[in-house]
Amino acid sequence: MLQKAAPHYRSLAHTGSGSTLDVRWPAESGRSLFGSAQTSSVVRQQAGASLDHVNADPCLALHRPVCLTQEHPMSGDTSSDRFTADSGLRAGPAEHAGAQFYLVGAGIASLAAAAFLIRDGGVQGQQITLFEESEQLGGALDAGGSPQEGYVARGGRMFERHYVCTFDLFASIPTLDDSKTVTQEILDWNETMKTSSNARLIRRAERETAPLFGLSERHILTIERLAVEPESMLGRSRIDEQFHASFFKTNFWIMWSTTFAFQPWHSAVEFKRYLVRFVHMVAGFNQLHGILRTVYNQYDSMVRPVLKWLSRRGVSFVRGTRVVDLDINTATSEQHVERIHYLRDGVAGEISVRPEDRVLVTLGSMTEASSLGAMDLAPPILGKNDGGAWALWAKLATRRGDFGHPATFADHVDQSRWVSFTTTLYAPDFLRSLIELTGNLPGEGGLITFPDSAWMLSIVVPHQPHFIGQPDDVAVFWGYGLTVGEPGNFVSQPMAACSGREIMTELLGHLGMEADAWKILESALCVPCMMPFITSQFLPREPGDRPDIVPAGARNFAFIGQFCEQPDDVVFTVEYSIRSAQTAVYRLLALEQDPPPVYQGKFDPKVLYNAYRALHDHAA
Ligand SMILES: Cc1cc2nc3c(=O)[nH]c(=O)nc-3n(C[C@H](O)[C@H](O)[C@H](O)COP(=O)(O)OP(=O)(O)OC[C@H]3O[C@@H](n4cnc5c(N)ncnc54)[C@H](O)[C@@H]3O)c2cc1C
Repeated sequence: MLQKAAPHYRSLAHTGSGSTLDVRWPAESGRSLFGSAQTSSVVRQQAGASLDHVNADPCLALHRPVCLTQEHPMSGDTSSDRFTADSGLRAGPAEHAGAQFYLVGAGIASLAAAAFLIRDGGVQGQQITLFEESEQLGGALDAGGSPQEGYVARGGRMFERHYVCTFDLFASIPTLDDSKTVTQEILDWNETMKTSSNARLIRRAERETAPLFGLSERHILTIERLAVEPESMLGRSRIDEQFHASFFKTNFWIMWSTTFAFQPWHSAVEFKRYLVRFVHMVAGFNQLHGILRTVYNQYDSMVRPVLKWLSRRGVSFVRGTRVVDLDINTATSEQHVERIHYLRDGVAGEISVRPEDRVLVTLGSMTEASSLGAMDLAPPILGKNDGGAWALWAKLATRRGDFGHPATFADHVDQSRWVSFTTTLYAPDFLRSLIELTGNLPGEGGLITFPDSAWMLSIVVPHQPHFIGQPDDVAVFWGYGLTVGEPGNFVSQPMAACSGREIMTELLGHLGMEADAWKILESALCVPCMMPFITSQFLPREPGDRPDIVPAGARNFAFIGQFCEQPDDVVFTVEYSIRSAQTAVYRLLALEQDPPPVYQGKFDPKVLYNAYRALHDHAA
């Protein structure tokens, strides 16, 4: 029974030692960002200790922790506080004392779940094991590379002040230098670096500051209807089945769709949820007011601190290990996971799970089967069989009707894919010209979209340095194209088939910098990244396509991440994943608390008034 809300912004940040550890992961040094359990031979060499003998290890049959046989991300770390840092935390409830906690995936959903288990459930870190199929921890929140090879981040995240679960979690996680909490760092940073775009749109190489939305009364009425229409009535309908075709030419659509990555064929229900969830951001949206950012990319600013916190508490990470199946006894009304099946280096293994153990599974992944190209190479196209996320969900879904329908999200790659790119600049000319054109310094402006671009290109120039350790004379920016199957305006290829050089050529064309293109390209390294499933969570869906976090009857397992059902909140956000983790932990441990509630701006008359005026292009 869930009774009271968890207190917000608790700070346990300094329960550990104040010493700073150098957190350096083996996989960071190379380009093995997206290596899979089956494909990466480097994995084998890097992994050190392996699980190969787990099958034969009697300790597993006796339910002893897997950490006896696995690598630890802090291997080499001899700091004594790793095993004592829990002092000050609640002692674990007796009923969980001997339990093991197995988490499938090491994206932010699983990392958050591990942290909530420790912080709120009183579980010891040594009781927790995460299985990750790739060599990189952090899932979609990745970033890597080097000044020599070029930096890569598949995405750049925007946050806003009502990411309550995110801020709750990170109020307990110290920054890498232990100087404050990550939440405090984000809030402080955005006090000094407030997002205010002077160039949200650039057309014909001219910036448009605070572009008008350009909505007709008919469009606004449709938005208002969607905001109140029950999801059950919208069913599987698409956005373009709700609006007149003229809506998709408006600046409102261009800005809303490129900020959040919507396409006309995406789910009307999800579009409605976004309108309601972010109603407080409609006023000022044309300058991206209220958007919060992290100091560095999210791997450096969020994932590394939480990994450090978990590692200090003895949590184990088993990389290069794909979970391929779970045995669940579905014959009775009380259902348990009894066995985890995994594949590591092509070798199958299994782990016994007792009723008192817990299994939290991240279902699906928007970055599954991502692939990198290079300056002169387009990224290869991979599919759902190149990773384990969809396959695992598909297997589980055959067991019970209410475990969701992964095909709804995974079988429409032409409607879910797009390409992002990260460009490393070794000369200042491009950035100087961009600052002049946009009227914003790096980090100030946020997303810049080129509405005339056949690829619907957008870029973000973050504050520099964007990577920890990035040299002063190197700059990095990120961009993406929403429509990657069309030929470009300056390049004849579709974006999906373009190298980094071709993507930069197209971008420079839209910026009116063609004359200097050769010079800029000589000192730039652009790495494209194809993501076949990046908007899969936006595809039209209906009730039942996503399972509940704790399905009826489930006693020792839960589903977390982007593809479980949570009322009101919106997918394609870090917040959704963290909320799912917090909910799963509180329910599985039967804690008498709830995650902080989803913000409900729709009940605030002032917010509604401001949004109404903004939709009509009146200043708030
Ligand atoms: C380009 C881009 C831009 C974004 N922009 C924003 C933004 O502006 N704001 C925002 O809030 N959010 C944004 N997001 C979304 C946010 O990053 C994600 O919602 C979040 O990181 C998802 O975390 P997750 O842990 O649920 O899933 P994932 O990050 O997908 O992690 C799942 C992990 O599980 C592993 N895994 C899956 N199946 C298995 C298996 N069977 N065995 C072992 N391991 C497995 C995967 O390899 C992966 O590492 C963006 C994402 C991207 C990619």
